[in-house]
Amino acid sequence: MLEAIERVIFSPEEIQKRVAELGRQIAQDYKNSAAKDPYKRPLLVVGILKGAMPFMADLIRHMDIPLEYDFIAVSSYRNGTVPGEVRILKDLDRAIGQRDILIVEDIVDTGHTLRSILRRLASRDPASLRVCTLLDKPQRREVEVPIDYVGFVLPENVFVVGYGLDYAELYRNLPFIGVLKPEYIRASSC
Ligand code: 5GP
Repeated sequence: MLEAIERVIFSPEEIQKRVAELGRQIAQDYKNSAAKDPYKRPLLVVGILKGAMPFMADLIRHMDIPLEYDFIAVSSYRNGTVPGEVRILKDLDRAIGQRDILIVEDIVDTGHTLRSILRRLASRDPASLRVCTLLDKPQRREVEVPIDYVGFVLPENVFVVGYGLDYAELYRNLPFIGVLKPEYIRASSC
């Protein structure tokens, strides 16, 4: 698969170092603000499928606090729907009333996906709702969204793949984040 990559933006070592830092920081923040018995009402980490899966799997192993996790799957406009419109394909398994919720995203681009998810979850009366994203593309933002934890801000406006991020469902299993060579991007998409 390496033949498809033009350049690496974040190496596996850089990613692992930053994810460990983030996990420890998040755990510390929740320890500081936690309810009296975090074993009775543990933090619920909500991963946004499919892209956040590798990031979330690494992140939670650096979080030394009681937690549960679940996933939401959404369809994004990149699959052919209207910008800003997000459809839930898989919802949370259980109610989240009075629970502390941490949403884990792969990348925040225009902000539409995250805003839609935040609105839905906020309406279910959680005790708190925070957001952690591996990557942020602030220069592309179309709607304001609150983000509590960011792994890396992308230094430029590029389409990246790897470590969960796909192009046409491929490249999610790369251990780094990089940019595809133009010849591996079909003229018909994007
Ligand atoms: P938003 O709704 O913020 O515009 O888009 C969020 C979604 O768009 C992400 O969850 C991701 O699926 C996709 N996306 C945005 N930028 C990129 C990128 O650079 N690479 C990949 N692979 N997906 C992206």
